[in-house]
Amino acid sequence: LAEGGDLRTNRTTVRRLPERGANDRASVHAVLDAARICHIGFNVDDQPFVIPTIHGRDGDTLYVHGSPASRMLRTLKGGLPICLTATVVDGLVLARSVFHHSMNYRSAVVLGHAVAVDDPERKLHGLRTITNHVLAGRWDEVRPPNDSEFRGTTVLALPIEEASVKARAGQPIDDDEDYALPIWAGVLPLTTEVGAPIPDPRLAPGTDISPSVAAAYAGR
Ligand SMILES: Cc1cc2nc3c(=O)[nH]c(=O)nc-3n(C[C@H](O)[C@H](O)[C@H](O)COP(=O)(O)OP(=O)(O)OC[C@H]3O[C@@H](n4cnc5c(N)ncnc54)[C@H](O)[C@@H]3O)c2cc1C
Repeated sequence: LAEGGDLRTNRTTVRRLPERGANDRASVHAVLDAARICHIGFNVDDQPFVIPTIHGRDGDTLYVHGSPASRMLRTLKGGLPICLTATVVDGLVLARSVFHHSMNYRSAVVLGHAVAVDDPERKLHGLRTITNHVLAGRWDEVRPPNDSEFRGTTVLALPIEEASVKARAGQPIDDDEDYALPIWAGVLPLTTEVGAPIPDPRLAPGTDISPSVAAAYAGR
C-alpha cells in the first residue's frame, strides 16, 4: 500500500498525461470535499455496477450511508474491492478542432474496501460527517436520528489509503496550424450555484431560516 502522505500505488498511477495527476493526501481530500456526490463501482457476479451516492470525509475516512435494503450497501458490507470516484466539472474546453475538445475538471479515484460501522458513536459520527457534507453546519440545526432511524441506516467507512487525483485547467491545446483558423475557441466556465432558498410550504409559522442555509446562500 501507499505510505505516508503519498496515496500512489501501481494501481493509482495516472498513466495518460501524468502531469495532470497527483497522489498526495491534500489533493485527494480537496477533490473529495469539493464534489457533491461520488460514484461507487463494484462487481456483482462479474457484472460491474457504478452507483451514485452521497459521501462525507473526515480525515482519512470516507463515509457513505443508506438503507440496509440497498444492494450497494449490502454488497459493500461484505468487504469486496471497490472504486469510488468523485468529479467536479469546472468548464467546457472548446478547441478549434473536434479532436482537442475537452473539459476542465478535478477528479479523485479511491480504491479500497469498505467496512460497516457498527459502533454507535462512530456510526453517529459518520452520519454527522455525511450530513455536514450535504450542507456545512446542518447537523447541529436539525433533529438527530431516533432509534428506529438509526437502526434503519447502514453506515460504511472506506479508509483513504490508495488514491489519485487528476485535474485539467486552462485553455484548449490546439495544433499549431489551427490557431490561424477563424473559429472561436476558449473555455466556457461551469459552476454549480446555490439558488435562493425555497421555504417548505409546511414550515411551522415563524420559523427563521437556518444559519447553514443563510450562509450557503450568502457565500454563493
Ligand atoms: C470530466 C472528465 C472528462 C474526461 N473525458 C475523457 C475522455 O473523453 N476520454 C478519455 O480517454 N479520458 C477522459 N477523461 C480522463 C479519464 O478519466 C482518464 O484519466 C483517462 O481515460 C486516462 O486513463 P489512463 O489510461 O491514464 O489511466 P487508467 O489506467 O485508466 O487508470 C490508472 C489509474 O490512474 C488513476 N486515474 C485515471 N484517471 C483518473 C482520473 N480522471 N481522476 C483520478 N484518477 C485517475 C486511477 O487511480 C487509476 O486507477 C476525463 C476525465 C474527466 C474527469
